[in-house]
Amino acid sequence: MTTIAISWLGEGRIRVAELEAGKRSLVSRGTDGDVMIQHPTVSRPHLAIVPCPSGYLVEHLSRTNPTRVNGSRVEGPTPLSDGDALVIGTVSATFHDLAAGDRRQGPVCHNCHRENDAHQRDCWFCGTSLVNAPTTIRMPRPVLCRLLGPDGAQGDLYEGTVLVLSPDGKVTATRREGASDPRTGHVEFRDGQPMFVAPNEGESAASAQPIATSDEFSVAGNTFVAIRR
Ligand SMILES: [Zn+2]
Repeated sequence: MTTIAISWLGEGRIRVAELEAGKRSLVSRGTDGDVMIQHPTVSRPHLAIVPCPSGYLVEHLSRTNPTRVNGSRVEGPTPLSDGDALVIGTVSATFHDLAAGDRRQGPVCHNCHRENDAHQRDCWFCGTSLVNAPTTIRMPRPVLCRLLGPDGAQGDLYEGTVLVLSPDGKVTATRREGASDPRTGHVEFRDGQPMFVAPNEGESAASAQPIATSDEFSVAGNTFVAIRR
């Protein structure tokens, strides 16, 4: 299963729209789209996001307002990857493909047992050489949930990790609850689903709530928005 989404900044808030996987989706102003962005530089329709054998690509449809992918103006069909920066008219957006991590497989360090990106020659975490490792295990890393923070901060939740949401708007993935600091909130995988645990306020016990796409969580006045796998 996969989750495809677009996020953008609209009226000072992070917006998230999930797209139906495996289907052509129209991005448009007004009401006739799968994703509606109400901004004068977004056309009706503006672009389409289309499934293709390697994933997804963008088709530019507007005659008046440009589309850019990672800074380059789109003329013909252009492949999209997880995390690509889209500019739709003048609206900055991001393409999300939460299954991208399933395809990215890397060697697991025999010293610290952490997984590395496929191109690493030495373990990024502890420096042990991966080239001469007696065994190289490869396993997929499904992203269970993604949190978007202010100023483009972003973090992915994997099994066995915790995402710490800091009062300064940062999103940090850690192996343990970095929540010795009670002002931070965090996201963890519990009872088969991602849960948000609010900052500890006073003496009340921390409350946990399940996460759905587009849910907003506030930590010290910073708003974080979730994309749920
Ligand atoms: Zn290591």
